Amino acid sequence: MSSSARVAGVEVPTGHWIGGGRLGSARTFADHSPIDGALLAEVARGGAAEVEAAVSAARQAFGGWSRTSRERRAELLHAIAEGIEKRTDELARVETADNGALLRSHLRGVMPRAAHNFRFFANWLVDELAHPEFDTRGHRNQVSWDPAGVCALITPWNAPLMLATWKIAPALAAGNTVVLKPAEWTPLTASLLADITAEAGLPDGVFNVVQGFGAEAGAALTEHPDVRRISFTGSVPTARTIAAAAARNLVPTSLELGGKSPLLVFADADLDLAVRLAVEQYDNAGQVCLSAVRLLVEEPVAEEFQRRFLERASLLRQGDPRELDTDIGPQVHPRQLDRIDGFVRRAVAAGATVALGGEPNSELGGLYYRPTLLTGARPGSEILTEEVFGPVLTLQTFSGEEQGIAMANDSRFGLAATLVTGAPARAERVSARLVAGTVWVNCFFVRDLRAPFGGSRESGIGREGGTWSFDFYCDVKNSVYAQ
Ligand code: NAD
Repeated sequence: MSSSARVAGVEVPTGHWIGGGRLGSARTFADHSPIDGALLAEVARGGAAEVEAAVSAARQAFGGWSRTSRERRAELLHAIAEGIEKRTDELARVETADNGALLRSHLRGVMPRAAHNFRFFANWLVDELAHPEFDTRGHRNQVSWDPAGVCALITPWNAPLMLATWKIAPALAAGNTVVLKPAEWTPLTASLLADITAEAGLPDGVFNVVQGFGAEAGAALTEHPDVRRISFTGSVPTARTIAAAAARNLVPTSLELGGKSPLLVFADADLDLAVRLAVEQYDNAGQVCLSAVRLLVEEPVAEEFQRRFLERASLLRQGDPRELDTDIGPQVHPRQLDRIDGFVRRAVAAGATVALGGEPNSELGGLYYRPTLLTGARPGSEILTEEVFGPVLTLQTFSGEEQGIAMANDSRFGLAATLVTGAPARAERVSARLVAGTVWVNCFFVRDLRAPFGGSRESGIGREGGTWSFDFYCDVKNSVYAQ
């Protein structure tokens, strides 16, 4: 038995999606909105039994789907994209109710990107995924990308549908079947996506969703012996648990994890641009893995940078994310708000100065944390080394290129780095030495799905995007034919 809930005017199924049908669980969990704490839904709370059913459905569906022609698979992925496009408004409203991120961003950027994920990998499969051939002493080598099997996908709450589709689309395009376990704080859009895949005509069992907690459904899924790939986006501690489970079954794992990325501003930079990029780091209330939260500014311009930054940041409108002129909404969950506040309090106790914000927004109440800038933090201190995942930036100064690079790289993470400079030669020199999966020069968050995406150091293992995604989701095979 399964049911549904009405969220933001949309009927959202609250059960799992297994083998092309809805399934409830004896237990449920409460899903609250970060906007006002309202109860949105009681969602099915899956465990080992539901995971068993979903993996089994995915395994059964694999034979047919993996042998379906590339063209037909691509056609179905385009149909899913079309379904997302048609329901953009509903998906955006439900996502905003569920995770508190701006409706404006969901409408203009996030949901279109979710659809684009499907279109991109469908096109890449048909147009770009070459099968190289070469000759060895009269033998013809032919490389093929064979689907791997059942893929377990585990996703976080900060961009639920977008991050899920970034994994689902290449996994399905490659001919795999999928079991998705969405984050328990934001389970709803995955449920709508299941409806969309069914409407698009995706065969039963090719895409499955098990709702529930990480330690229950998530653990059962990543430990399942029939899973052939695990793709995870989330925190470092969870990644360690998943990597241990994957090691037992020797399953290739893609890990997209946290960050503590730098934004380097050189004295020769266009300061207005630097300030604009720095203020952008408050997007999604700071709940973005790629955020450049460590502002590193060259000494001669540091004072002027800070003055202009404070001027611009003070114009940000904090409030209800459903209003289209809001710039910063709430944090996702009371636990996150407390965590952020704890980081800031400890930083101040350890000697940092609050230049902006530094506390929850008491005028708004609820889960709103003021955009915050801390200066004077002690090198090596917690606020400079741990991922806060909230609207908290630090500002440090440096003297000369060597010191700037050293400070930027002084992190156990290596997800992204942004640098602002007016000197093209410096841009090349510095970006070559930064330890990061992505370096942005005089820009931020420009993403092309053809590009490799992933992190260095503790920010992750593996790269996805373009053929890198197919490398991960496939067993790459070389066949040698005697001529
Ligand atoms: P999290 O690790 O707590 O949870 C992520 C997912 O893992 C959830 O679905 C959760 O239920 C599941 N999970 C938890 N324990 C599990 C277990 N033992 N076995 C299997 N699954 C388990 O992370 P979060 O708090 O939801 O997300 C925030 C983190 O994600 C931040 O560190 C952020 O930087 C990172 N992130 C990274 C990227 C990237 O692309 N690099 C993108 C977005 C977020």
